[in-house]
Amino acid sequence: MFKALLINKTDDAGYRCALTELDEAQLPANGDVTVRVDWSTLNYKDGLAITGKSPVVRSFPLVPGIDFAGTVTASEHPRWTAGDRVILNGFGVGESHWGGLAQMARVKGDWLVALPDGLDARDAMAIGTAGYTAMLCVMALQRHWAEAGVKPGSGEVLVTGANGGVGSIAIALLAGLGHTVVASTGRLGEADFLKSLGAAEVIDRSTLSAAGKPLQKERWIGVVDSVGSHTLANACASTRYGGAVAACGLAQGMDLPASVAPFILRGVTLYGVDSVMAPLARREAAWAQLATGLDRGKLAAITHQIGLADAIGAASEILAGQVRGRLVVNVNA
Ligand code: NDP
Repeated sequence: MFKALLINKTDDAGYRCALTELDEAQLPANGDVTVRVDWSTLNYKDGLAITGKSPVVRSFPLVPGIDFAGTVTASEHPRWTAGDRVILNGFGVGESHWGGLAQMARVKGDWLVALPDGLDARDAMAIGTAGYTAMLCVMALQRHWAEAGVKPGSGEVLVTGANGGVGSIAIALLAGLGHTVVASTGRLGEADFLKSLGAAEVIDRSTLSAAGKPLQKERWIGVVDSVGSHTLANACASTRYGGAVAACGLAQGMDLPASVAPFILRGVTLYGVDSVMAPLARREAAWAQLATGLDRGKLAAITHQIGLADAIGAASEILAGQVRGRLVVNVNA
């Protein structure tokens, strides 16, 4: 038997997530690798799944948790054997396939990435899908800058949703690479914290969150945006000639009330970043860069640890924008 969060939806009880005990025999039959989960984490999408605020969960009952780090206990997959240390992000796990907010998981071996050298399972989940997505955003900007010949420090990089999981790790990564980072937040009281991560300046997100002009003063050589809506439109409108914006989130909204002006008059590039179905090679590159390029002291400052049952209450807090940084979940507590 093992402990897990389980989401159920019935006519009588409605949509419910509770801590429960499950038998290993109940794990999904369509997986070929069984993993003892060492650590998991709580992401924005897990908040949506656990509360039922958005139709993230597509089959019931379901164990939530879009990511985990753990140790293989049994495998029918050629790449994995018992004892291997692995990370899982996305692929519909925690949405349509049982996920990582549990002590055991069974998934497809094709979805797994080896835990890179120099990174332990707890740190991997302190980074989690949010941090891995921040890395994918930074890598998109790095590819763009390399082609354009843009050097770190040659201009300001905007990070929106700065106190969130994606935002806080993006700040630490970009500052570590030598960039001048400007953090946009609704929580100005956390300005000192954001500066300790490497932000050179902290701005009020209200300067970006309302409808703005299609072209604004050129400021950013790059943007990591986890907010969407007017914020993303304004970020594009104030990106410098030839700069790039990596968009991965929708904390403000799914809409994009923008004009084509920044793209056709300033050659701005908008990169869409998806972590869920990203190809294996890109995942491995992202995790390798996270293992070497993310300051562990900053990661520790971003991270708060909770137990498995605490994840249910924390789900509402993450949706309310009350969580600072990352929540790592000890599934054995
Ligand atoms: P968090 O909840 O940790 O952070 C989101 C941050 O956005 C908040 O901390 C807050 O930052 C800011 N924010 C919240 N509400 C608003 C609002 N109404 N207007 C402007 N800013 C707001 O979430 P994550 O960092 O984990 O995820 C961020 C986004 O990225 C989510 O939309 C998530 O779904 C998406 N995502 C996408 C992935 C992909 O594959 N594309 C993968 C992972 C995440 P502050 O308080 O500093 O203003």
